[in-house]
Amino acid sequence: MDERITVLCGWPWRSLGTLVIEEPGVAEEDSLRFGILWLSDDRENMILFLPLRPLWPGFLFNTLVFGLMLWLLWSTPFSIRGWLRTRRGVCKHCAYPIGVSNMCTECGRAVRKRSSAVRR
Ligand SMILES: [Zn+2]
Repeated sequence: MDERITVLCGWPWRSLGTLVIEEPGVAEEDSLRFGILWLSDDRENMILFLPLRPLWPGFLFNTLVFGLMLWLLWSTPFSIRGWLRTRRGVCKHCAYPIGVSNMCTECGRAVRKRSSAVRR
């Protein structure tokens, strides 16, 4: 009698899955469906594998969540740097001092002047 084990992985949503079918006389690497055998240790009665079957709603949500987290980690330091440069009254892209023009005279990008600098 074979034993079927469905394994679902992923955080925060279940996003990948695999199916293990344990049959007598069948090698462990042949018992995996939608997965790759990573490590098998009979002494510890342990098997490690990489699940490869995407579970679509969870896979999509996890991709969006981790993509957003990476984007925030990447963009936040640049946003803070630009905010600090604007606060100091210099171009947020190249840190060149802002003159009277709406364009940076160093890099040519549009600049936004501090509200206190505009009132003068
Ligand atoms: Zn500039």
